[in-house]
Amino acid sequence: MKPSIYLKFIFAWLIFGLLGFLTIALLSSRLTLNYLITDNANALYREANLISNQYTQSLSSSQLSTEDVTLQLQAIDHFTSSVVWIVNKDGQVIYDSRNASEGAETADFVIEGFDATDIGSKNYMIGTFYDSFPQEMLSVLSPINNGFQVVSYVVIHTPYAEIVTRKDELLNIVYITGGILYLLSLIPLIVFTFAVYRPIKKIAAATGEYANGNLDYSIKHTGSDEIGKLADSLNFMASRLSESEEDQKRFIANVSHDFRSPLTSIRGYLEAMVDGTIPPELHEKYINIVLNETGRLTKLTNSLLSLNNLSDKGMLLEKTDFDINSAIKHTAETFEGTCKQKLLRIRLILTGDTMFVYADKGKIEQVVYNLIDNAIKFSNQNSEIKVETTEKNETVFVSVKDSGIGIPKESVKYIFDRFYKSDNSRGKDKKGTGLGLSIVKEILNAHNENINVISTEGVGSEFIFTLPKSREFND
Ligand code: ADP
Repeated sequence: MKPSIYLKFIFAWLIFGLLGFLTIALLSSRLTLNYLITDNANALYREANLISNQYTQSLSSSQLSTEDVTLQLQAIDHFTSSVVWIVNKDGQVIYDSRNASEGAETADFVIEGFDATDIGSKNYMIGTFYDSFPQEMLSVLSPINNGFQVVSYVVIHTPYAEIVTRKDELLNIVYITGGILYLLSLIPLIVFTFAVYRPIKKIAAATGEYANGNLDYSIKHTGSDEIGKLADSLNFMASRLSESEEDQKRFIANVSHDFRSPLTSIRGYLEAMVDGTIPPELHEKYINIVLNETGRLTKLTNSLLSLNNLSDKGMLLEKTDFDINSAIKHTAETFEGTCKQKLLRIRLILTGDTMFVYADKGKIEQVVYNLIDNAIKFSNQNSEIKVETTEKNETVFVSVKDSGIGIPKESVKYIFDRFYKSDNSRGKDKKGTGLGLSIVKEILNAHNENINVISTEGVGSEFIFTLPKSREFND
């Protein structure tokens, strides 16, 4: 199993802790020790200088006796727990604060190999001071002059182990503080768990469900922050996908149904003619029926194709300025034959001689055609269809009104859906495809224009759509 994001974070947190600990143990330890060594060495050096100055004075004047100085040295030993020596140039220790009895210089031993220049540029040295001590000491050295000559040195030693102990004490404080900070750094981890990890886990589970086709799966509320919004978007996306999947299934079912019924009747008539059920003298009649059915299939195919083209994102419109009045006249003329058959009249009530609009002429003619076609289909014999243009501000309104069967109230909201046909339509006119109005809607949507319908069952219907007035030709 691949490590989860949570494990990665815990791993990073542990690494952070380990590196933090190593930094304190190595870097901070070294820096603190260096600091304490220099600080102690400086303090001792200042002390040593003070003593050597006083000693120098006591040698050159009689104001201060060497006893006074040695008393002072013992006081320093006492308070700083350091060993104070006075060593002459040959390495002979002539005073040792640890072995001094009051007012007397008792020490008298020689440091083998003593060389004051060994101390180098630093003002201290760490070690056993020429094997004078069993443990390591921090030693500083300051010369005592007599006249212009160095006669001896003040040497102060302090146990190095004490400095290390102080360093450890200081480091313990740092360790405790670091440990507490490390525990406090769990707070972001806890916040991360609840604010990021858990919601993301829910989202990951949901995407898994979607990938398996369960589009009804809904992500439970994950808050209103960015992740919450992401979850909401995913929920929305899934519901839209689910809807479009439903749409697709319905679409295919409708298309199959609409193709199957004319094909079944064509096949039925042809078989009946071949096997003689329909006598030859009736062949002409049934061939015309078959022809009608193939016409219906062609119409259905054409409508599907044009709907498909229209639905493509970014439908290309060839917008021009054209006269909607004359476009309506030409379209209405194509229905002359049908109108005669059905004893219908088309009355054009057009505003102005010309009325220029800016739109795709071919597609708007198709809109007018589909609306008049429906008006004729659903009109009763011997009635009138009115096509009217009006204008208001920068908009032209085109209305197609019939006094036909009307649309039931409950059906109105569905008439622009693909394949929607009212029951009346199915019975009365088998040529309907249920695609005419959805084509109208797609075209007007692409133009960002609107269509409205006012219909009363048994009285008639009026479809009104808008078009933008042409800016150039109407002024
Ligand atoms: P169809 O090919 O069935 O006419 P449409 O998409 O053009 O498909 O219309 C869908 C449905 O809307 C029709 O079946 C009909 O019920 C209703 N309809 C459309 N126009 C009219 C109208 N002028 N009068 C009454 N009903 C209409």
